[in-house]
Amino acid sequence: MKTLKTMLAGSLVLLLWAGCGQEKKAESTNTVTPQDLRKIERTDNAAVETKIDDLLSQMTLEEKIGQMTQLNNSVIVTNADWGAGSDLKIEIKLDTTKLGQILREFHVGSFLNGIAVPAETWYTFYKEIQEYNMKNSRLKIPVIYGVDHMHGPNYLEGGTIFPHAINTAASYNNQIPADIAHVTAIETADIGHQWLFAPVFDLGRTPLWGRFYESLGESPYVSATMGTIFVKTVQSEPDIAPYKMGATAKHFLGYSDPKNGWDRGPSDFSDQTMYEFYVPSFQAAVDAGIKTFMINSGDVNGEAVHASYRILTELLRNEMKFKGVVVTDWEDIIRLYRNHKVAADEKDATFRAIMAGIDVAMTPYNTDFCKHLKALVEENKISQERIDLSVSRILRLKLELGLFENPMPRNDRFNRIGSPENKAKALAAAQESIVLMKNENGALPLSADKTKKILVAGPNANLKAPLGGGWTLRWMTSDESLYPKNMLTVYSALQKEFSENKVALATTAAEIKSKAAGADAIVMVVGEAPYAEGFGSIIDISLPEDQIELIRVAQLTGKPVILVLISGRPRVITKIYPGCKAVLFAGLPGFEGAEAIAEIISGKINPSAKMSFNFPAAANRLVPHNHKSSEVLLAHVIDNPIALVPFGQGLSYTTFEYSNLTLSDSVLTSNASEITASVTVKNTGSRAGKEAVLWFLFDEVGSISRPVKELKFYEKKLLNAGETAEFKFVINAEKQLSFPNSKNEKLLEDGYFTLMVGTLKARFKLQR
Ligand code: BGC
Repeated sequence: MKTLKTMLAGSLVLLLWAGCGQEKKAESTNTVTPQDLRKIERTDNAAVETKIDDLLSQMTLEEKIGQMTQLNNSVIVTNADWGAGSDLKIEIKLDTTKLGQILREFHVGSFLNGIAVPAETWYTFYKEIQEYNMKNSRLKIPVIYGVDHMHGPNYLEGGTIFPHAINTAASYNNQIPADIAHVTAIETADIGHQWLFAPVFDLGRTPLWGRFYESLGESPYVSATMGTIFVKTVQSEPDIAPYKMGATAKHFLGYSDPKNGWDRGPSDFSDQTMYEFYVPSFQAAVDAGIKTFMINSGDVNGEAVHASYRILTELLRNEMKFKGVVVTDWEDIIRLYRNHKVAADEKDATFRAIMAGIDVAMTPYNTDFCKHLKALVEENKISQERIDLSVSRILRLKLELGLFENPMPRNDRFNRIGSPENKAKALAAAQESIVLMKNENGALPLSADKTKKILVAGPNANLKAPLGGGWTLRWMTSDESLYPKNMLTVYSALQKEFSENKVALATTAAEIKSKAAGADAIVMVVGEAPYAEGFGSIIDISLPEDQIELIRVAQLTGKPVILVLISGRPRVITKIYPGCKAVLFAGLPGFEGAEAIAEIISGKINPSAKMSFNFPAAANRLVPHNHKSSEVLLAHVIDNPIALVPFGQGLSYTTFEYSNLTLSDSVLTSNASEITASVTVKNTGSRAGKEAVLWFLFDEVGSISRPVKELKFYEKKLLNAGETAEFKFVINAEKQLSFPNSKNEKLLEDGYFTLMVGTLKARFKLQR
């Protein structure tokens, strides 16, 4: 797919570009030299630093540039026939002649990408690459392999497939990102997948964006918290010894907020917005010690990010203090001249990207980058010191991951792949990440004893692929034959849960009408088919009309309709919402997702997820929970809700009562002072349930307009029927009450703040 996509874009752009050839010079203020940065980035590990210096002193320019090059696996496999624009035909089988040529001539240090093949196939592939490399390369620098395992090991046959990040966020359970990281690591580190292109730290602030589901929702706090738990777990996983993995913060910066909602489109925001919303999760990744960053393919405020010295060096290095490796995204140096038109040709684009701060070029189909970069150094346009800076970072990554000591993969622990223990974790993640949006008069659960017949219908009722979404087995595929034989669909999961003869499937509107008689309920499973990246760009956020119609058909039967939405983002369902008795937003719940949905429908599992974004009520009202006060006024005038189901809301089969919100003090008197808020939560229903308590703050008056509410802390606990628990939140003035200005100076302003938890509110004051 990517090939086809690239070729189309390329030829169109070539036509448009013909004739414009003038060289432009990259403007860089060069506030810091490569030599300065190299000094700053040296670590305390003397052995690592000595080895870097030693290697750099022996490497030729070509060898150094090779380390800065990352190629797609299609260039080294025996069969990479994309056929009619699909990457299904790639075979993970090494062509040693192709590899040999690339390594001999270009000394390439990194490869990437995958499709789901058996672990043994990956093992052989990687072993052969590394063996050839270690035997034939002059300085024995191991290659590193990069893969997009976005929700568990999605490019490994038989791997444990978790829900996507948009679901993880809705669990408000920090154990879940830790579990995903742990399982991804133990199932893939042994096959040489040590550079993980995850997690996504972009905020899901516009559901129009086709990669919304890869984000941890719209809250900077959730993204930073869960994202860094993932990073820390994956990068320090003891169970993969002797290997180590490096994570990637992507896609820096502002990628998730294209103005038109389309993937890789331009974003425009003020520096203040950037520091308040887009920098914090990435800063948290830096502070957590993340090893690599991947860059936004789009442009921000008119600057193509891959050519932006301001963003890649001044912001990321000088201000945020990132010291690791920066990799481009797919073909993004080429895109600087083909798409962004900020460079005259590929050589000029290479110059601009390197001078802006790129270390590794995911070129990814050829080695032209090597030629251009070499010429630029020989022409003295790029200094040796600049090259050495990038190469020192790459060598440090390889050394810190232990690749020099343990370059070879192993195949004696594959019994851990897709183990019952790992699948149980994926099931738990799915169970806790499906939001019960509506449940009129306790329509759910449908008790297994009393229910005689359930009719299941809708486009996603009996499909596996939509449960995984994009980045599952392939970049994106709807080919059901690729999915595990024993994987359940919602239909088969309901049969398992309620017994086969109680559950019937209707595949057409006519069948819904004819089979509805005698049904206790109709479960309508609607939503989206898998998509990735630009293929997820849509022009209308509403649920497609044919699906709305089908739901209406179900509603007209007079039977209670239970709607299940399987999709990577909210789709507007307001028109048919009142006629549904219960609604589940299942997101993209992964391979165990159908079972989790069936268990929630039967009541075996009590749902406990809460929205990780504002679920819109109308297509033109896409407003996150942390919007500014001025956005609300219009909503009041036209009497339109901001959201159908707001961020942080989700129902349970039990009820929780919040009371006794108390503050240890009502005044904070210094920057360092703290007060502790506590609230009592009682399970007032008749069954056990997990409750995530979300703490929001509102700064009542600010010199820069403040969000109406901001999530600052959350905690989830299991409460038995009748049980009471106390939840606490420590408010530190500097940490929780300050906000950045356009220069990222932290402002802390005296005045009143409102604390919100459940439906309770309390005020306190900062008065220094
Ligand atoms: C995506 C990245 C991904 C890369 C490698 C790009 O097109 O934007 O998220 O890591 O491809 O597959």
